[in-house]
Amino acid sequence: MTRIYYDKDIDLNILKNETIAIIGYGSQGRAQALNMRDSGLNVILGLREGGKSWKKAKEEGFRVYKIDEAVKRATIVHILIPDQVQPEVYEKYIGKNLREGMALCFSHGFNIRFKQIVPPDFVDVIMVAPKGPGLMVRELYKQGFGVPALIAIEQDYTGKAKERVLALAKAIGAGRAGIIETTFAEETETDLFGEQVVLCGGVTELIKAAFDTLVEAGYQPEIAYFECLHELKLIVDLIYKYGIEGMWKNVSNTAEYGGRTRGKRIINDSVKKEMKKILEEIRSGKFAREWVLEYKSNMPVLNSLRSIEKEHLIEKVGNKLREMMKLK
Ligand code: NAD
Ligand code: MG
Repeated sequence: MTRIYYDKDIDLNILKNETIAIIGYGSQGRAQALNMRDSGLNVILGLREGGKSWKKAKEEGFRVYKIDEAVKRATIVHILIPDQVQPEVYEKYIGKNLREGMALCFSHGFNIRFKQIVPPDFVDVIMVAPKGPGLMVRELYKQGFGVPALIAIEQDYTGKAKERVLALAKAIGAGRAGIIETTFAEETETDLFGEQVVLCGGVTELIKAAFDTLVEAGYQPEIAYFECLHELKLIVDLIYKYGIEGMWKNVSNTAEYGGRTRGKRIINDSVKKEMKKILEEIRSGKFAREWVLEYKSNMPVLNSLRSIEKEHLIEKVGNKLREMMKLK
């Protein structure tokens, strides 16, 4: 069985002589910096001078430095800026200021897994990845709880990488909920797969295909919207809380019979075959190369998809209905 670590298994004291430089004060940066500070760690911030985050972090009582300066003052550098900008920022301000025995920490493995950042061999390379958005990381911490986190060790130069990363995870509150060890490869590959196939890609295309099918058959778009999109939340909430079998217990027998027999015709072997291809593109680095290139050339594909897809009928109908339901 997978080992789960909790607060009682972890010694926060091992960080008492360390200075943690958090690079970035966005969603994760702010939440993790505040939690670590409240847990008694010595936290400084490395930001772009004069930026919006700079002002905010100062107002919230942090010592704020330019990124290279923060790295020079730190023993642990926790990089919490958007993944696409990390390689350039690392190249310019971080890499050349690393000293022997420091730790380089991430909350997502993409840049290490796909070698967009190649750290020197004289530092620890670790990851603490909370399984929730920054706001929740902060909110639950304040309530005396926390969101679970994954930890990983890519490089253990000091022999203390595990103690260090566990202590960082505890300091953001994750030890109250549970900490699970993974690898940079597993975290990155499963994260990309999940968002492409289910969470962001799969679900939206499933919704649109079903919506289109009803509308093309002559049903009203408003009705199609409720059935194929709006109600999804109710079902996902049930699955989230009670699991798939628990969800079946909470819908009608008709829905359960129809769902259990018809669902398999939609998500069939050909879909699974395509999922395997997508996983292979992730593991081979093909997807990462494609995305890095796309980002560097100012995202022509993404921008064109954005402008095409925002014209879909489901967007117009959705806007109207969400307003009607006062959801926005
Ligand atoms: P974000 O988009 O909220 O970060 C924005 C911050 O990055 C800004 O406030 C600014 O301080 C800094 N920044 C932006 N561009 C910069 C540049 N060019 N140079 C220097 N600083 C710059 O980022 P985030 O969503 O908090 O993600 C940070 C890391 O956490 C990523 O590795 C991400 O994968 C990971 N992560 C995020 C979430 C999440 O819920 N957002 C969850 C788990 C892991
Ligand atoms: Mg993801």
